[in-house]
Amino acid sequence: MEELAADPVVIERLPVVREALLLSASTQLRNMATIGGNILQRTRCRYFRDATVAACNKRAPGSGCAAVTGPARMHAILGADEHCIAVHASDLCVSLVALDADVHIQGTGGRRTVPLTGFHVRPGDRPDIENVLGHGEIITEVDVPLLPVGTRSGYLKVRDRASYEFALTSAAAALRVEDGVVAEARLALGGVGTVPWRAREAEEILTGAPVDDETFRAAAEAAVRDPFTVPGTEFKVELAKRTVVRILQTVSGVRS
Ligand SMILES: Cc1cc2nc3c(=O)[nH]c(=O)nc-3n(C[C@H](O)[C@H](O)[C@H](O)COP(=O)(O)OP(=O)(O)OC[C@H]3O[C@@H](n4cnc5c(N)ncnc54)[C@H](O)[C@@H]3O)c2cc1C
Repeated sequence: MEELAADPVVIERLPVVREALLLSASTQLRNMATIGGNILQRTRCRYFRDATVAACNKRAPGSGCAAVTGPARMHAILGADEHCIAVHASDLCVSLVALDADVHIQGTGGRRTVPLTGFHVRPGDRPDIENVLGHGEIITEVDVPLLPVGTRSGYLKVRDRASYEFALTSAAAALRVEDGVVAEARLALGGVGTVPWRAREAEEILTGAPVDDETFRAAAEAAVRDPFTVPGTEFKVELAKRTVVRILQTVSGVRS
């Protein structure tokens, strides 16, 4: 991961990827970690990771979800329901879904390619199924399309400490602005989704709209539409919206 962050093309054309990489984990972890491993990392849900907790639909389908009634500060509010609120913790994936990256997969039966936006699976009533990878398949490549020249992008991560910490909320954004109007928008959220969360409705609101705080706030409202919260995660609704507004301000350079 560290090597990719130092790639001249990534530095020049994909700041949203570089920033997500450099805000992930620690230098030591990034030096060892692979892109495939980051995409396939398991959730940090403490109930999933603690085998003494009986109720975890992801670990033991049908057993319930202890996180829904227990302390749940680091959990998901989008794509979540009473079956599972485990968050997808990757930073890199948030940037990659915003960019429409493709994942190349090799299995015993041949090769196939799937968009990263369709790679991770929302829990529904089967939280144990996390992605579309079949038995015997591995990721061999990830294609990341370059952003058009003139597009500005960035990644904002809000966390409890400045380093070596997973996101409470995060947002990846890319905007191409022409004459004060958004010509093209990409937006995805992290720290809040059961999967890396592409905010397409927010992108539609942004596209064609004037670059100002009113537009950014409307996009933020759409990006966090219909959250599923428990007492520990309620704060994330407003925090995620503010994260979206701030990254859009930063990327556009406009703060009205
Ligand atoms: C203390 C700590 C803090 C962290 N903080 C962050 C953070 O802030 N942000 C963040 O994004 N991540 C964070 N991480 C996660 C970290 O980035 C991942 O653990 C790392 O990216 C995993 O990479 P790896 O190559 O070691 O994968 P592994 O741990 O080796 O693999 C992970 C899983 O993916 C499978 N796998 C790996 N490669 C492939 C492949 N090509 N095809 C199919 N399956 C594959 C493995 O079999 C395994 O099941 C943190 C981890 C730790 C331990």
